[in-house]
Amino acid sequence: MTLNVHSIESFSTVDGPGVRYVVFLKGCAFRCMYCHNVDTWDNAGGKAVPIADIVWEVKKNVAYLTPNRGGITVSGGDPMEQPSAVRDLFSEIKGLPITTCIDTAGYRLDDDVKSLLSVTDLVLLDMKQPDAERHRELTGHRNETVLAFQDYLDAMKIKYWLRFTVVEGVNDDDATLALLRERIAKRPMLERFEVLPYHTLGAYKWKELGIPYRLKDKKPASAATVARVCASMKDIIDADGKPLP
Ligand code: SF4
Repeated sequence: MTLNVHSIESFSTVDGPGVRYVVFLKGCAFRCMYCHNVDTWDNAGGKAVPIADIVWEVKKNVAYLTPNRGGITVSGGDPMEQPSAVRDLFSEIKGLPITTCIDTAGYRLDDDVKSLLSVTDLVLLDMKQPDAERHRELTGHRNETVLAFQDYLDAMKIKYWLRFTVVEGVNDDDATLALLRERIAKRPMLERFEVLPYHTLGAYKWKELGIPYRLKDKKPASAATVARVCASMKDIIDADGKPLP
């Protein structure tokens, strides 16, 4: 069994807790207007990497992955394109003293995905826009499945972080933040809420691939905007992003 891989990063500190071995997969169903990994969208063109090779690499590095809940993260693209293969990978890794994590937009919730979630310790769930129609404008798809995905994590007692990429003038308005609060408050399995500022580092890839970049005149989100989003949650999220009781 293989995974269709875009790239691998053997030492990351921004893709979940601790130090993480990160596998970026090919393929994503969304078309987010701010995507900085547009080169992962197409399912074709990846490298078929045997699961056994990834397991071998992770085992080799297990000593530095183990502290502080470190481990392996499968990102993308989106793991929702290859849930059964990711499940097989995580099943092989489950015996090791490290955590398994997926970084996903949560746009699929069928039996294959539920099977993957049964061997996943932590989900990094992107909440791009809580309003369904505005989510469609931002990503090309409505978000009913994303919301159901989050509800499923709480119901099945699977830990997750919620991540929100803020783009000024696109999703930093009061209506969005009010709906976002509803997805954060009283969520038993939510461990952390992260606000990620929109940046333009991946914009060149759109140009290279000849895809029109609708945000080409948009500036990166400022520290003040990030602070304003965080401040709007301050009665439910502490300064480290942890939910308040
Ligand atoms: S879900 Fe992620 S990889 Fe897919 S289009 Fe959106 S930002 Fe890009």
